[in-house]
Amino acid sequence: MLYIGIDLGGTNIKAALVDAQGRVLAEASAPTGGVRPPQALCADIAALAFAVARQANCPWQDVAALGLGCPGTVDDRAGVVVYANNLEWRNFAAAACLRELTGRPVALGNDANVAALAESLYGCARGAHSAVIITLGTGVGGGIVLQGRLWTGFDGSASELGHIVVEPDGVECTCGRRGCLEMYASATGLLRMTRQAMADHPESAMHALAAANGLDGRVPFAAAAAGDAAGRAVVDRYVMYLARGTADVINLLYPEVIGYSGGVAKQGEALLAPLRRAVAPLVYGAADTARHTRLLACTMGYRAGTVGAAALARQLVESET
Ligand SMILES: [Zn+2]
Repeated sequence: MLYIGIDLGGTNIKAALVDAQGRVLAEASAPTGGVRPPQALCADIAALAFAVARQANCPWQDVAALGLGCPGTVDDRAGVVVYANNLEWRNFAAAACLRELTGRPVALGNDANVAALAESLYGCARGAHSAVIITLGTGVGGGIVLQGRLWTGFDGSASELGHIVVEPDGVECTCGRRGCLEMYASATGLLRMTRQAMADHPESAMHALAAANGLDGRVPFAAAAAGDAAGRAVVDRYVMYLARGTADVINLLYPEVIGYSGGVAKQGEALLAPLRRAVAPLVYGAADTARHTRLLACTMGYRAGTVGAAALARQLVESET
């Protein structure tokens, strides 16, 4: 059986034809085309799904189901996009619309959640009992996968990992609370802390690095690696906040793996090695067990969204038979 996974982003729609083992047989993409009536966008998604099947010479009857990963708040059981800010969708029955257009069952999930499912089944947490994926991008998001299934809460709203409070009375978050992980561990948060440190430390190597290659989250890491004290302080502070959020996730769920994706995670061991050291003393009972949650970098890259959506489609079919 084959499945089509679709990753609906604000800029592009990506689709992949995927087998039951998570292997990609064909993939294609098309522009999202800005804010449009959801039915029009669904028609383009269906066209892309047909195109990706044709590309692999796969007859449509061999496609068992489709999976769609959408940004925003998604009620996965109802197949409804409750609210997607950048698409301007509100209470849109996306699964039913796409099922009508394609004649196939459609599984719907939040985009970060389905990417977490892919990492859990085929990526950094392959073979693990359970995994939490934390995405360190413009914001902080992710997904929880317990024994091979996404945990989305009773109405799809679970796993808002970015809104764990890591600094009481800290920076105000878009959600209304203060000191959320997202305000410190996102690329945006890292940049804010970097700018502040640069203003406080005119002698820092970060100024020359930013002038040469532009100011982004790589600057404090590069400075720290070169022995710059102010850069090291930014990295240490970033790691401390990410460790607080990570330890809360471990203390709550004790997953076998926590995987990190997104721009900041590209630092790899420069991030993960100090993170492991910072997390260990914060984990309840860590001294008494040899079996610790493994903190790893995600491995699926841009394919996590499509392959995860296809896995969700497979699970939908398997749960019905
Ligand atoms: Zn928040």
